[in-house]
Amino acid sequence: MSNFTIGFIGLGNMGGPMAANLAAAGHTVRGNDVAGTTAEGVAEAATIAQAVEGADVVITMLPNGAILRQVAEEAIANMAPGALLVDCSTVDVESARHVAEAAEKAGLLFVDAPVSGGIGGAQGGTLTFMAGGTEAAFKKAEPLFDIMGQKAVHCGDAGAGQAAKICNNMILGATMIATCEAFALADKLGLDRERMFDVVSTSSGYSWSMNAYCPAPGVGPKSPADNDYTPGFAAELMLKDLGLSQQAAEMANADTPMGALARELYTRFVEEEGGKGKDFSAMLPRFEKRGWQG
Ligand code: NAD
Repeated sequence: MSNFTIGFIGLGNMGGPMAANLAAAGHTVRGNDVAGTTAEGVAEAATIAQAVEGADVVITMLPNGAILRQVAEEAIANMAPGALLVDCSTVDVESARHVAEAAEKAGLLFVDAPVSGGIGGAQGGTLTFMAGGTEAAFKKAEPLFDIMGQKAVHCGDAGAGQAAKICNNMILGATMIATCEAFALADKLGLDRERMFDVVSTSSGYSWSMNAYCPAPGVGPKSPADNDYTPGFAAELMLKDLGLSQQAAEMANADTPMGALARELYTRFVEEEGGKGKDFSAMLPRFEKRGWQG
């Protein structure tokens, strides 16, 4: 594989280790972050323009769609025609499509490629990428996905990566809530949690939330529940993704009542019930404390 010059914008919890993995694989990486954060093997660029000028590929890993639009505008204005822009942030579908259009107008390739796998996946190079964009853009990005992750799925045109990500996380949020409320009900019915896990994890109620990320401490494989609900995947990040799925549902005129209720419950959990900073599976102790009709 040829070695690329890569501009990397947003060296936070996820972007830092992703950029470091690209540098470790032999690519020349120039990084920029407003907070002045750096990453191992990554040359510091004082401005976005300096990070992206002459780069073959520019990768962004930013907090939200508004920041992405602003950063992309500056990046696109300074990128060479034919270069590739890859956004790995989780943002709204509209922002992904807006940036894709601006990139195309400037003669650039674009892929929206949000990830799943969290900080551990970013550090270990085991992320899953859900990508949207043209075949040519995806093909050019693929070798970089191989370094930063273990799997990349080309989901369709620009925005399809974000669509896949928010649909997946809407299922995850609703399923985690259902799993937690069922454990709390089982407790009150006097059912042993280990037995509950044994049955459900091998019956039709099984899911990733139950089988791989069990919210009950000491039950099933090791999960954040065994570490006092230290994230893992923080409740406020789940809330962000549930907000994006509801925003998309409104835009696309889709009926998503379970997604809407999941967002409502995570909003209360994060804003009023001490869930901020806790893993999203800490919904279980929340339900334990509650009774019929809340
Ligand atoms: P983070 O807040 O740690 O990192 C974001 C970085 O962007 C920060 O370092 C910030 O200083 C920088 N930044 C903000 N505005 C900037 C600008 N104008 N120019 C340059 N840099 C700027 O967040 P994170 O946990 O790394 O998450 C990044 C993205 O990945 C988010 O969209 C998040 O939803 C998504 N994501 C996170 C996880 C996770 O477990 N943390 C998992 C999957 C997806």
